[in-house]
Amino acid sequence: SKASGRNSISFFHPSMQEAADLRIKMENELREAIDQGHFVLNYQAQFGAKNEIIGAEALIRWQHPQKGLIPPVEFIKIAEESRLILQLGRWVIMEACLQIQSWQQNGLIVPRIAINVSSNQFRQSNFVDQIEHSLKVSGITPDCLEIELTEHVVIDNIEDTIEKMKALKALGLSISIDDFGTGYSSLAYLKQLPLNQLKIDKSFVRDISTDPNDAIIVETMIDMAKHLGLTMIAEGVETAEQLAFLKSKGCTGFQGYYFSHPVTADQFAELLSEQSPQ
Ligand code: C2E
Ligand code: CA
Ligand code: CA
Ligand code: CA
Repeated sequence: SKASGRNSISFFHPSMQEAADLRIKMENELREAIDQGHFVLNYQAQFGAKNEIIGAEALIRWQHPQKGLIPPVEFIKIAEESRLILQLGRWVIMEACLQIQSWQQNGLIVPRIAINVSSNQFRQSNFVDQIEHSLKVSGITPDCLEIELTEHVVIDNIEDTIEKMKALKALGLSISIDDFGTGYSSLAYLKQLPLNQLKIDKSFVRDISTDPNDAIIVETMIDMAKHLGLTMIAEGVETAEQLAFLKSKGCTGFQGYYFSHPVTADQFAELLSEQSPQ
């Protein structure tokens, strides 16, 4: 009715209208950017106990013609809510595979590259097919790829998760739990999953040398990973103190500004060629 229509309008504050407009604008811009290929992957190296590169994480950026490089925090959520993440996620997988192929063609020994996969993307019934398709088109081997899933994605639908993880593992991919410790997954869940690696969330690493609670939590995670037979990467390592603590507790994988920021594909190739014997 007209009356209730007027009532609901009175709840609709102008700033809410503005927010909604902005959101629709953003969504349209995002859709257009996907069509025009205005995205790029950066790569952040991961290091082992001897400071050798053991892998890298692919991180998406939006190359906006006016606003410049836009970080994922500003668009991933909208991409997920609008389901544009499905298209974007497909692009990320293919782009990473083609990039690996290109590096290899240039004679580089490329470590495993990790890709972030969001919930809606992983839940697609053809997700494993998408991976297989990108491997086939690029011609790279499955051991070049790692999938990063958050605990949230994993416990969303545990049966489907286990089934897909098994299929990915059977192909030869590696699987990591991202942001480990920030979700709700219990040990009972983790034990069921065919995982390779845990990534300790950077929120625990940040205060590791000053907050005794964080120190104990991290130490426990490292022990747990060991007992479950999983490798481990500590995220957000920014200082020598954090690194020393992590090493003293037996952590063997590190990622963070202390070692390297995310860099362009060309810069990452340079990092690799400094390391590999030519
Ligand atoms: P994430 O998966 O936890 O990625 C790590 C984030 O930490 C990256 O932010 C990285 O630049 C940042 N980082 C690296 N080292 C340090 C450090 O030493 N200190 C601090 N404070 N931060 C560090 P970025 O690139 O802005 O990405 C943010 C998030 O966006 C990612 O968090 C991930 O959840 C999401 N994301 C990025 N790329 C993709 C993608 O291709 N697909 C999906 N679905 N999500 C993505
Ligand atoms: Ca990640
Ligand atoms: Ca993370
Ligand atoms: Ca995160």
